[in-house]
Amino acid sequence: MRWSIRLGTIAGIRIEMHVTFLLALGGVALFTSTGLKDALHIVVALLLLFACVVLHELGHALAARRYGIRTREIILLPIGGVARLERMPEKPVQELVVALAGPAVNVVLATLFGAWLIGTGTKPDVLLETWESGGLVANIVSFNLAMLLFNLVPAFPMDGGRVLRAVLAMFIPYVRATRYASLVGQGFALLFAALGIFVFKNNWALVFIALFVFVSAGEERALVQTRTSLTGLPVSAAMVTAFVSLETRHELAYAVDLLLASEQQDFPVLEDGQLLGMLSRDDLLRGMGREGPTAPVGRLVRLDVQPLEVSMPLDMALQRMSATRMNALPVMARGRLVGLLTLENIRELGLVRAARQRHAGLA
Ligand SMILES: [Zn+2]
Repeated sequence: MRWSIRLGTIAGIRIEMHVTFLLALGGVALFTSTGLKDALHIVVALLLLFACVVLHELGHALAARRYGIRTREIILLPIGGVARLERMPEKPVQELVVALAGPAVNVVLATLFGAWLIGTGTKPDVLLETWESGGLVANIVSFNLAMLLFNLVPAFPMDGGRVLRAVLAMFIPYVRATRYASLVGQGFALLFAALGIFVFKNNWALVFIALFVFVSAGEERALVQTRTSLTGLPVSAAMVTAFVSLETRHELAYAVDLLLASEQQDFPVLEDGQLLGMLSRDDLLRGMGREGPTAPVGRLVRLDVQPLEVSMPLDMALQRMSATRMNALPVMARGRLVGLLTLENIRELGLVRAARQRHAGLA
């Protein structure tokens, strides 16, 4: 992800920290501490709590790996952690296991540290105190319990939302299960917002989270609906075959000319006739300012692009695009570049198909 710092790799999964997370960390230390020593304590405590978040996300990632699903990275954001799985398993039992694996880690951590507290005879009222009186361990316990409760709220994109969908999907079709689960999620979001405004007296953090949950739940529903309307179609049904490619040696100014002259926003980049990667509009505009108009395209090309095959199912292609946050992917046939698939095309085709299915349903 842009603006994130790589911390390292655990079990082959990149762990990254977003810059905003560092800023939030510094901000909290600066505004809540009484001195340098205290500030250091707060930073250490927060880092330990975020280690718990990483472990929670690793729980999801390692469970997904059991089903052959890779995780690109785990990112620490100020609102929590995100494990970016290549895709979600569609078998309800598998989704259930992956969704529960994260909260299960919190149960283990809370139990272990809780046992340590009981073992050392620490009184339960330390749970509410600071780290000076041995409260750091108590903080870890209460943090893990809070994280467990929060994640089990049955609302997308929280783990509880996925658990709810997985359980529903064992009895009713996947799309309908998603619709119900996302509506329940939006109901909870409204409840959070109301609590934030009326009960906790203008707690805007809670209202913000509610808004985020409301939008994410709606997005998940739309994504699953589009994906289902595409079932049975290959990538070739939606790809564009009239597109332009760039060569690594082309100047950026030439790429900008192409961008302005056509509706194409993302360009496959070739080297000696072979596909090398992609150059997106955003990367091009940003890079142009940094490198200047005469720099070669090769300097900005994105290399971590996995091309699609013409015969690949379209719903799988869509899933890969949304997981990797690519707006366009090159399409290959027998090792040759033959097309470009964009989110725009897929959306249009999805809308047309959904409309046609609704019409057929009415007729
Ligand atoms: Zn989780």
